[in-house]
Amino acid sequence: MNEQHPLQSFIDLVTFDQELVTLETEVKKLEHEVADAKGKFFQIEQSLEQAKQRVYDARKEVDHKELEMKELEAQRSATKERLENVKNAKEYQAVKSEAEKLKTQQSQLDEVLLGVWQKFEAAQKEQEVLAHDAEKKLAEQKDIQEKKQEKILEIKKVLEERSRARAEREKRVPADWLERYAMMRSRVTDPVVPILQNSCSACFWSVSNQDMLTLKRGALLQCKGCYRFLYIPKESAEQEKQV
Ligand SMILES: [Zn+2]
Repeated sequence: MNEQHPLQSFIDLVTFDQELVTLETEVKKLEHEVADAKGKFFQIEQSLEQAKQRVYDARKEVDHKELEMKELEAQRSATKERLENVKNAKEYQAVKSEAEKLKTQQSQLDEVLLGVWQKFEAAQKEQEVLAHDAEKKLAEQKDIQEKKQEKILEIKKVLEERSRARAEREKRVPADWLERYAMMRSRVTDPVVPILQNSCSACFWSVSNQDMLTLKRGALLQCKGCYRFLYIPKESAEQEKQV
């Protein structure tokens, strides 16, 4: 078996790394989706909590108005008693008009009570409906979270295996190339690009004939425009041979 040319090993390493990037991007996407599912889960829980609070508040208002009503009733029956024991016509008139006033107040409070009871029942119904849907929705979000989390673990395992395989590939590439590549890689996501129509396919800087010859000899060349590493894609190299 003949030894692979360093430039080809280098391009292989780059291709390998690009696959790694694809996997890393997939992990990021999944992590984002997990966070999204967690957010939705929280939202459902929150709206349940709010509905519960509305029921509680409405109930409190009902109790408050019911108490007011009880007090009015007590006042009315006290007035009735007083009416039976009045000593003169003047006193009778006074107690009578007080009784009338209480009666009006009571009928007004009756209206209010009806309203708060309706509000309470509506809040209860809303809570029931929400709780019924929420169970299913919460389970759904939990399921999404778990499945995506599993997938993340799977990919991370593959990434670990791959990083071991990468170390093997690195051995076939000259150390100073690796160093320059690492530097470029920290700056751009595509540190190595093919030459298309005699120009850098990233920044379109045109490659001189002399540089094309250098590349064809298998040297490593950086673009003078963007400093990315350049290579001649296999297909175009073969095409040139055929011409
Ligand atoms: Zn360039």
